[in-house]
Amino acid sequence: MTTAAIRSTLRGATATLHRSQGTKSSSVLVDASRAFSTNHYNVVVDKFVSSPSPPSASASSSSRQSEFLRHPNDVHDRNSIYADEDTRSLGGITASVRHNWTKSEIASIYTLPFHELMYRASTVHRMYWDPAEVQQCTLLSIKTGGCTEDCSYCSQSTRHKTFVKPTPTMKVQEVLAAATRAKEAGSTRFCMGAAWRELGNKKNAFGHILEMVRGVNGMGLEVCCTLGMLTAEQARQLKEAGLTAYNHNLDTSPEHYPNVITTRTYEDRLQTIANVREAGISVCCGGILGLGEKETDRVGLLHVLATLPEHPESVPINALVAVKGTPLGDAAAEDEEAAADDGIANVDAFDMARMIATARIVMPRTMVRLSAGRLSFSDAEQFLMFQAGANSIFNGDKLLTTDNPAFDSDTALFHKLGFVGKPAHAGPRVAPMEMLGEVEITKVKGMEQQCA
Ligand code: SF4
Repeated sequence: MTTAAIRSTLRGATATLHRSQGTKSSSVLVDASRAFSTNHYNVVVDKFVSSPSPPSASASSSSRQSEFLRHPNDVHDRNSIYADEDTRSLGGITASVRHNWTKSEIASIYTLPFHELMYRASTVHRMYWDPAEVQQCTLLSIKTGGCTEDCSYCSQSTRHKTFVKPTPTMKVQEVLAAATRAKEAGSTRFCMGAAWRELGNKKNAFGHILEMVRGVNGMGLEVCCTLGMLTAEQARQLKEAGLTAYNHNLDTSPEHYPNVITTRTYEDRLQTIANVREAGISVCCGGILGLGEKETDRVGLLHVLATLPEHPESVPINALVAVKGTPLGDAAAEDEEAAADDGIANVDAFDMARMIATARIVMPRTMVRLSAGRLSFSDAEQFLMFQAGANSIFNGDKLLTTDNPAFDSDTALFHKLGFVGKPAHAGPRVAPMEMLGEVEITKVKGMEQQCA
């Protein structure tokens, strides 16, 4: 969709705004052109619920979801709408999408007093997103174990003696059956992971993976893969088959990276990310806390991500799940206190919230994904992370080889917190604060005419 077409879709007149808060509900007639006067956009809204009650059994998810004004699903279309935007301000906090962050600027955000950091991140979150909407993704290991890399946290490396038994690549029909189950459980993005250094010359396996991508895409689910390093041509074929996103994590800072992995370089990873982006596939790229890194490494990772030519569409933040038999798992088991002093494992909810909050502030339009390690956090601790700006989770009782909360407990958590999932192939909801005209938006000087 062109920018002009998107603008024309968003152009309109008056909106009836239904605000529902808890059991009380009020209906307010809003002149959308006035509400959006600072944006130069007029937005058509049929019906808008800013804080939905937990979904009732009678309302189908699709009928509930159709009530919201949404951004385009394509991240480039989405970003182009706001190409002329400079800053957003709300509640005394100003934010912007920038690619020229310095490490010291990010460090000064990361080290804010916790209460202040949370206020800022939570406010930025509300300027750009509807905090009620949280994407649910399911990750399936389609080829487990037997990987020749030496990632020191990973249970699937042949160099570590862990509980994982290598298995061959799953059959296409088995994967599609798993995707059907995930869809029935509310998941809208299905991710397939293979324990490979790279896709390389695996022609047969690649053919099967392309079939899986087509099949999952055909079910109306968004499709993501994580298959190790990719060439530009492989990325192009995956895009053609219908791949939505590709996950390739940087794990940690460039400085700490060689202490964790020696069999491929940081540059290799950045090249795969560039190949994926070049093919027009959304980039999912994040890191892991608890790898023995210092806080400067956490800042260093965020600095690399926030200064990429385009911010990743999603940034997963993982807490190390220490697995017996891996170098990091064994270090944590041998001497818990020494490991904690060295930054290995022992990631607490405050560490996670601080990392998520900083990511939210420096990459305001990126989906921040609360990923591995959720099982070790209580519902209240996870709520802290959502308040910090996380707006996506992995669901399903396995995350590759490690345990994850069961579907049912996540459903209960969503009801408890008043969250709803994001539908597949639909852009995120426009932020309620933006719709209400509460967000002050300034434009890049000289672009007003061009974009009006
Ligand atoms: S993290 Fe990926 S690349 Fe590294 S050992 Fe595990 S499966 Fe292999």
